[in-house]
Amino acid sequence: MATSDLCITFHGAARTVTGSMHHIRFRNRHYLLDCGLYQGRRSEARERNTTFPFRPKDVDVVILSHAHIDHCGNLPNLVKQGFAGPIYCTPATRDLIAVMLADSAKIQEEDAAFLNRKKPKDQAIQPLYNAIDVRNTLRRCQAIPYHQTFHPEHDLEVRFTDAGHILGSAITHLRFTANGTHHTVTFTGDLGRPGMPILRDPEPLPEADWVITESTYGGRLHEPPEKSIDALGVAVKRILSRGGKVLIPAFSLGRTQSLLYDLQGLIRQGAVPATSIFVDSPLALASTNVYAMHSDCFDDETMDLLEADADLISGNNVYYLQRAIDSMTLNERLDPCIIIAASGMCEAGRILHHLKHHVGDPKNGVLIVSYQAEHTLGWKLVKRWPVVRILDREIEPKAEVVPLPGLSSHADHQDLLNALLPIAGRAKGLFLVHGELRSAEALAEALKEQSIPHVHIPEPGFKIEV
Ligand SMILES: [Zn+2]
Ligand SMILES: [Zn+2]
Repeated sequence: MATSDLCITFHGAARTVTGSMHHIRFRNRHYLLDCGLYQGRRSEARERNTTFPFRPKDVDVVILSHAHIDHCGNLPNLVKQGFAGPIYCTPATRDLIAVMLADSAKIQEEDAAFLNRKKPKDQAIQPLYNAIDVRNTLRRCQAIPYHQTFHPEHDLEVRFTDAGHILGSAITHLRFTANGTHHTVTFTGDLGRPGMPILRDPEPLPEADWVITESTYGGRLHEPPEKSIDALGVAVKRILSRGGKVLIPAFSLGRTQSLLYDLQGLIRQGAVPATSIFVDSPLALASTNVYAMHSDCFDDETMDLLEADADLISGNNVYYLQRAIDSMTLNERLDPCIIIAASGMCEAGRILHHLKHHVGDPKNGVLIVSYQAEHTLGWKLVKRWPVVRILDREIEPKAEVVPLPGLSSHADHQDLLNALLPIAGRAKGLFLVHGELRSAEALAEALKEQSIPHVHIPEPGFKIEV
């Protein structure tokens, strides 16, 4: 029986937002779009991340959309299990994954040590990967700038365009050729939104036969970025002027840099008093350094400010704390200040210590700037739970909690429609991934209302063959 030319299988981020991974077979060659870490309950995550639903050594090429860990975080394991081909990504993504994967390897090693602490030595589990696997992964990376067509194989042409989501994030367009016919695929990766700080707006999506799109905020709308930045300024000023500290839980890559940019802008305009900003995350400092190396990815407004010598994401008032001891001494400071620390949903990381020390005091404020999954500490704070457990303590949260959902770096429902509608009518199939089922369904519904046919929400393992 003759096999089909093209086969796409959705292995990760199918009906969920984590573990992005899609497999394309074209004739006898195997390609992987993203190889993300599945993040969830420890035991389930370990199971899903350890075993791939294909043989890693059969994969010929990986194409990576961006450096968030849910897109790149399982690459070292793929390499460890035998993948020996090239990994294509943009230059900024290459530099960012060096930082992100090194940090992830450390977490994997600490996790394994934690699980092994009560196990006999002969039953000890190995970390998912370690620093050596990360080094071997980085060796496989080939950095290709936006808009430069490249050929991973003789019958495949690929081009990255700017997704405007984080530094280096790419929309991937693939064009396979066999016997004079073409098959095209557009993969959005994570899409940003117009008007975001620092980065250029997302570029128009290239037309394709098969479109794989994220749907994180299907069914939900963000405030315009300017309105959210104003709200950020008003909240920060209010908390500082009553002598409080401002705590902001934030992802170290992307969110921290855009927050710093917004806060420094508000200080420049006089909307917020000049205040010390403590960025309590070694990973955020490393990521900021990569941002500084890639001004080629910045938008015009940011370039103009850079030329005027403005402090954009660093400056005399910004202190990056490396050592845990510096993080602890911050708790003894009495004067008002701003503290940015990971994790974004308050589930781990140094933000927990700051919350433990400050969330009981009504003078202080917690700004919630990222998506909070249900039952995380960040979600409980937003929902105003009367008592929360933080590390070893039960605490009544009396600090002001200010949700600022409009600062998201993901396209909202309308942004997704604006991006998809110009190309969706001509696609033979439109696959909504990287969204909870509810969000993907809301986007599918809106697309169908616009008479877009062939909209699918693939289950994990769903396969399309042509
Ligand atoms: Zn992302
Ligand atoms: Zn993502």
